[in-house]
Amino acid sequence: MRRYSAFAIAREAARYHQGWERAWRAPEPKKKYDVIIIGAGGHGLATAYYLGKNHGITNVAIIEKGWLGGGNTGRNTTIIRSNYLQDPSAAIYEKARSLYETMSQDLNYNVMFSPRGVIMLAQTEHEVRGYKRTAHANALQGVKTEFISPTRVKEIVPIINLDGPRYPVLGGLWQARGGTARHDAVAWGYARACSDMGMDVIQKCEVTGIRNEGGKVVGVTTTKGEIDCDKLGMVVAGHCGDLARMAGFRLPVESVPLQALVTEPIKPCMDCVVMANTVHGYMSQSDKGEMVIGGGTDGHNAFTQRGSFHHAEETVRALIETFPMVARLKMLRQWGGIVDVTGDRSPILSKTPVENIFINCGWGTGGFKAIPGSGFGFAELMATGHSPLTEAFNLDRFKEGRFIDESVAAGVAH
Ligand SMILES: Cc1cc2nc3c(=O)[nH]c(=O)nc-3n(C[C@H](O)[C@H](O)[C@H](O)COP(=O)(O)OP(=O)(O)OC[C@H]3O[C@@H](n4cnc5c(N)ncnc54)[C@H](O)[C@@H]3O)c2cc1C
Repeated sequence: MRRYSAFAIAREAARYHQGWERAWRAPEPKKKYDVIIIGAGGHGLATAYYLGKNHGITNVAIIEKGWLGGGNTGRNTTIIRSNYLQDPSAAIYEKARSLYETMSQDLNYNVMFSPRGVIMLAQTEHEVRGYKRTAHANALQGVKTEFISPTRVKEIVPIINLDGPRYPVLGGLWQARGGTARHDAVAWGYARACSDMGMDVIQKCEVTGIRNEGGKVVGVTTTKGEIDCDKLGMVVAGHCGDLARMAGFRLPVESVPLQALVTEPIKPCMDCVVMANTVHGYMSQSDKGEMVIGGGTDGHNAFTQRGSFHHAEETVRALIETFPMVARLKMLRQWGGIVDVTGDRSPILSKTPVENIFINCGWGTGGFKAIPGSGFGFAELMATGHSPLTEAFNLDRFKEGRFIDESVAAGVAH
């Protein structure tokens, strides 16, 4: 793989950009791999990347039914933060956030990580108490956050309305090194690095069956034929229930649509991310100038990548309370993704009842920020059978009642 650099750009400019090579290969599947990862979203690709980088396992296929990054990874609002309450969550999300800091250099691919700061507004006394508690927990976990006053909120976000008609802003949980990254670039950067290590990223290939023998996985059936493997990682977000059913077990996960919208582009007016969880809406400004807006999940299970209209209306209503200028903007696009939500709002990174099948799912509304940390830990789990980062997120916690309750951190907050 040729490195991307200022020199490469100058060289290609001089020869009319004729020399760029494909970023990743488009191979046909081999008969057998050491590891198959189902799902070429961020988590699947990051897992493959760390299997190669940290554990030397490169005979790997990443199988994707659509196009890589076409699931939730390419549909999210790209918020990155690690201000979670419970220790296992803070550990994996902070690992991920710290890996985002150097991801562009590590992958030699500009993922446009922008640590512009994230504020989660406190708009009820309950939220003030909750976020102060999280700030104290974060201090003990080594995650840099602080609870800030309404005056400081207004200094950071001049366009905000502190005296909303329903809920005033009483303060906020501020993480200065939280921010955003370009979601497609994260998927593309990992795909390029995986392909460069000799892995096969196989797109337009749906897994339709999982083959087990004697309680142990032996391969998958796909729309491109049967492919054998020694180990299998299922990393398919909202479709994890389908895949688990194919393998013969059930998951405590619900699939629901979550949607986002963008406005027409306007001049720069907000240089951080603001989340208003009580009124249910959040907003940031993209590099193009569009205001990127998201809200909560639909109240029913579905697999439509749209979301229902009344939710879009509710989200916009919440945003207009918080930022009255939004009322004068036109909405350009709206879309949805299918998110996989667990009862304790924490992910599942675990062995499964079938030997050598591993599952990575349950990231719900907030897994983009976790991609590098999840890939790092899940690859370790798949390669060695154990990872300190993923240990608490195993499936058995639902049987044993060891929940990792992140409903405050992850309710609407992405
Ligand atoms: C509107 C919206 C806003 C969001 N905002 C944020 C945010 O601001 N911050 C944040 O941290 N998170 C956010 N999220 C959540 C985040 O997008 C997800 O948690 C994350 O992208 C999940 O990544 P993934 O790799 O697990 O799944 P995906 O990116 O969905 O990848 C799974 C892949 O598996 C493939 N697949 C499924 N079934 C099969 C099969 N049978 N065979 C082969 N392939 C299959 C799918 O096609 C898909 O490409 C948001 C999500 C949505 C929908």
